[in-house]
Amino acid sequence: MRPKVTRLLIAALLIPACSGGHAITAVKDAPLQSPAPQSTDDRTPIIKVVVLGSGNPVPSRTQAGTAILVEAGGDRFLFDCGRGCTTRLAQHDPRLVSSIDKIFLTHLHSDHVVGIPDLWLNGWTQGRGTPLSVWGPTGTGAMMEGLRAAYSADISYRLPTGTTDPAALTREIHLISENGVVYDRKGVKITAFRVHHADIPAYGYRIDYGGKSVLLSGDTSVAPNLARYGQGTDIALLEVASPPMVDYVQRSFPPEQADKILALHLTADQAAETFAAMSPRLGIYYHTVSNCAADKALMAMTRESYSGPLTIARDLTVIEVTQDGIHIDEPGAPEECSAE
Ligand SMILES: [Zn+2]
Ligand SMILES: [Zn+2]
Repeated sequence: MRPKVTRLLIAALLIPACSGGHAITAVKDAPLQSPAPQSTDDRTPIIKVVVLGSGNPVPSRTQAGTAILVEAGGDRFLFDCGRGCTTRLAQHDPRLVSSIDKIFLTHLHSDHVVGIPDLWLNGWTQGRGTPLSVWGPTGTGAMMEGLRAAYSADISYRLPTGTTDPAALTREIHLISENGVVYDRKGVKITAFRVHHADIPAYGYRIDYGGKSVLLSGDTSVAPNLARYGQGTDIALLEVASPPMVDYVQRSFPPEQADKILALHLTADQAAETFAAMSPRLGIYYHTVSNCAADKALMAMTRESYSGPLTIARDLTVIEVTQDGIHIDEPGAPEECSAE
């Protein structure tokens, strides 16, 4: 069992745990004055982010596929639902399996959507009474219709039992085809913006609530919209291809093919420049293959051109944006780092 690490970020420079044990907060710029006395309200999360899955398409023992849960305004919003998404939801809070009913898809690559049928059907059988609303690019409706067809036998077995609500099998599809606000309710505003993932329809999202904000990139290479929509956000999550992944692709494929693969994603130096352009209060890498060596290489390359607060997401990392700062509660370093 990895140790958990909790830390409060106030103008702090974060480095990954594997680069130096588990003491991972180093204050770079001390606050100019003492923080105001904390009240319950100061520590109440305004926006909460749970990294359910931090991984990429490569199957992993420690990283589920991409899935990010955002809580704001008393509601919950799921961004992508990759491999193991429902399992991680249950690990975080078993009640969420039957209560999540809003999914925002960045794009339709399978590593971002393969967990949807599990959540859709398990949520239904465990008591969800509302339709599943899905926001996503062109093709989202056809995919959800295909899932209904693929699981028609299972549905036909369970429906007659009368123990499940047929309404929860309904899918409400909200197609995204341009930049703009796609959800605006009870003070929670979610804006989709186009990113660059070859010629695949792909979107990042910005979530605003209570004067706080979170951006997540989805899969993308360099895209001007990241800086445009990520300007001054509290939390910015960027996908990245770690240096060892770049090396692997370049070794394993002919140059032309390798270039095409790598052009789908941000390299560490490109991500560093993007973070610098956005200046978030906290930058987070996700969609990684995370291990000690990869994390070290990723941070080293990033630090060549970006010095802001930054961390690498692990599964079930929880980040809370409150009035008094940004609080991170995360599992410890990858296991192989603990021996160092
Ligand atoms: Zn992906
Ligand atoms: Zn992708």
